Amino acid sequence: MDKFIKPRMRMIDSQLISRGIKDERVLKAMEKIPRHLFVDEGLQDQAYADSPLPIGDRQTISQPYIVALMTEALELKRNDKVLEIGTGSGYQAAILAELADRVLSIERIASLADRARKLLEFLGYYNVLIRVGDGTYGWREESPFDAIIVTAGAPEIPKTYIEQLAVGGRLIVPIGDRFTQTLVKATRLSDNTEDIETKDLGGCRFVHLIGEYGWKG
Ligand code: SAH
Repeated sequence: MDKFIKPRMRMIDSQLISRGIKDERVLKAMEKIPRHLFVDEGLQDQAYADSPLPIGDRQTISQPYIVALMTEALELKRNDKVLEIGTGSGYQAAILAELADRVLSIERIASLADRARKLLEFLGYYNVLIRVGDGTYGWREESPFDAIIVTAGAPEIPKTYIEQLAVGGRLIVPIGDRFTQTLVKATRLSDNTEDIETKDLGGCRFVHLIGEYGWKG
């Protein structure tokens, strides 16, 4: 018996539904996935708290509400192919794996990628492929993507992501300075990469997206 079921259900009600998350598929996925397995053993009792948590290498697993908000905004359909930048603990990738057909995820820190890969395999998520590298280049060979989610903050929208979105595809990315960002949703409207619609989803605070089209270190 999973002793974390109760805190997990409480998280769904008090942090997600109460703040306006409505998508049943997103709520079901977050109800199912054992978030406590994605943090160190010593932090498991805090895994369902209303905050981000450290996962080592100065990186963090995002606050549950932010995971839900970003996932809902991606409007995933069962057959979608999704790209995630910043695998971290692998928690967001597991949520995506529940909702889409294929998930590709890029992480720049090899030790985090290894741990996430092992955990996702243990949990039976065989539709996730994780690669180590600079995710600001995207994953051109696997493009186009129906959705791209960036879980680290960038100074501006890397153009590679718009190029690698399918027409009708959705990109969610935190944009701002090094301290605070705004969650931006960009939808690609046509073959022309300039033809995008953007929407502001609110304030947030992420670790830095470091790479060629992100922060330089
Ligand atoms: N989605 C994660 C949270 C990740 S924190 C989860 O569910 O746990 C952000 C992650 O982005 C960190 O692990 C960091 O190493 C990674 N990152 C930062 N810049 C990157 C880049 N250019 N390419 C790939 N990963 C990057």
